[in-house]
Amino acid sequence: MTKITVAKGDGIGPEIMDATLHILKEAGAQIEIEEIEVGEKVYLSGNTSGIAEESWETIRRNKIFLKAPITTPQGGGYKSLNVTTRKFLGLYSNVRPCMSLHPFVSTKHPVMDIVIIRENEEDLYAGIEHQQTDEVVQCLKLISRPGCEKIVRYAFEYAKQQNRKKVTCFTKDNIMKQTDGLFHQVFDEIAKEYPEIENEHWIIDIGAAKMADTPEIFDVIVMPNLYGDVLSDVAAQITGSVGLAGSANIGEECSMFEAIHGSAPRRAGQNLANPSGLLQGAIMMLNHIGQTKVAEKIQNAWLKTLEDGIHTYDIFKVGISKEKVSTSEFAKAVIANLGRKPNLLKSVSYSNNTALNLPKYIRKPAANKQMVGVDLFVHWNGTNPDELAKKLKSIEENRVKLTMITNRGIKVWPNGFQETFCTDHWRCRFKSSEGSEFTKEHIIGLLNKAITQHIDSIKTENLYEFDGKAAYSLGQGQ
Ligand code: NAD
Repeated sequence: MTKITVAKGDGIGPEIMDATLHILKEAGAQIEIEEIEVGEKVYLSGNTSGIAEESWETIRRNKIFLKAPITTPQGGGYKSLNVTTRKFLGLYSNVRPCMSLHPFVSTKHPVMDIVIIRENEEDLYAGIEHQQTDEVVQCLKLISRPGCEKIVRYAFEYAKQQNRKKVTCFTKDNIMKQTDGLFHQVFDEIAKEYPEIENEHWIIDIGAAKMADTPEIFDVIVMPNLYGDVLSDVAAQITGSVGLAGSANIGEECSMFEAIHGSAPRRAGQNLANPSGLLQGAIMMLNHIGQTKVAEKIQNAWLKTLEDGIHTYDIFKVGISKEKVSTSEFAKAVIANLGRKPNLLKSVSYSNNTALNLPKYIRKPAANKQMVGVDLFVHWNGTNPDELAKKLKSIEENRVKLTMITNRGIKVWPNGFQETFCTDHWRCRFKSSEGSEFTKEHIIGLLNKAITQHIDSIKTENLYEFDGKAAYSLGQGQ
């Protein structure tokens, strides 16, 4: 028996939650429910996060959270409960199955059954941004080894449990060799531990185009946060059935499961809404806690019910549907189909009652880290890089020399092109001559001299080698 936290939410939330829990109970799910209140009432009582302190305690104690949609009140000051939950609980993995239900739901892609697994905590979403010159702003893209290992391992474990055949990784590591490069490298490392599952890597641009055009060639796709944010919406949309989709947010300790859609306030209280999205979230929850055979039974009964043409109003279509049913009638129809499989739609089979094996991240031994130089970033309003180089040469230290200047990543000195457009944001690379040490004192020396020479240094980035391998980008054209 697993104790789970349940929030019935707002709008259609209570109706679709009751229908979902009814199906889970009849299917024999071994769960015990502890209910909390989140959402509109809590927001309007003056709590801007939409959840009370003691409810956090319940969620953290039970670790598994099944949440119906909530209504975020109009007007400023109310924080999104989803974003808060994701960040507070370290829910690093966002899982969104995107499946066509052709011919019961119309779609351009009749054969599509993919799962997007999106890293959920880092990348450009760390939200670390700065402006240091008049013309340029920057956002720090942070990719960590633990972040990559956790999400990639999750993707393979998920594929294994769900009897899926292939995991694909999307990155842009031909450009971002350090950040996306690490994601790809970790993907290759972990893929080796799962020889029974096919693996492949696509550059995100052509991968995304292919996914939108020929989704049937993909199975599970794992990717960093920003790409996953965009592509999970594209994938859900092209199935033609956004309203039927669930999603999971997985952390090392806690996990949250829900429908993708909102609280549909205009439909509330009428016993009309489709409980399928939340039911899909609940099925993911059962798989997560290792009750895979119950999950399988419900999923197949759900597919059979849709196939039988028993549809709620939102997917009801004359000619395809057979019977228009209410929320509770739909639940009853799914229950009546428990133990049956669909004929036309593909039935599912999950590995036998095994929870995902997600070991905690173990820190690797530290590499041999050696500083070899520094990138000094400068705010300068000139246009001729040779002039800037001349100024910077005046601050060179003994054995520490200016080796390169780039502007927006493109090498403009030495031997730049006159045609290259330059902003007021310059990266000036200083390195020690071959064989001599580079220390933090050198950086302090450079910065001190920059002050006396009226050079506006706006930041420095140390250049390191890890185990003898350069761990910084070259200038484009270098
Ligand atoms: P919505 O998803 O609630 O509704 C969009 C449309 O889809 C409406 O026409 C609605 O009637 C229909 N719909 C949605 N779910 C349905 C279902 N299960 N069965 C039948 N029809 C369904 O989006 P919205 O109208 O933009 O937002 C309403 C409220 O939901 C807002 O307060 C929003 O903040 C909130 N919301 C919450 C979540 C969440 O809790 N995860 C997610 C999205 C939106």
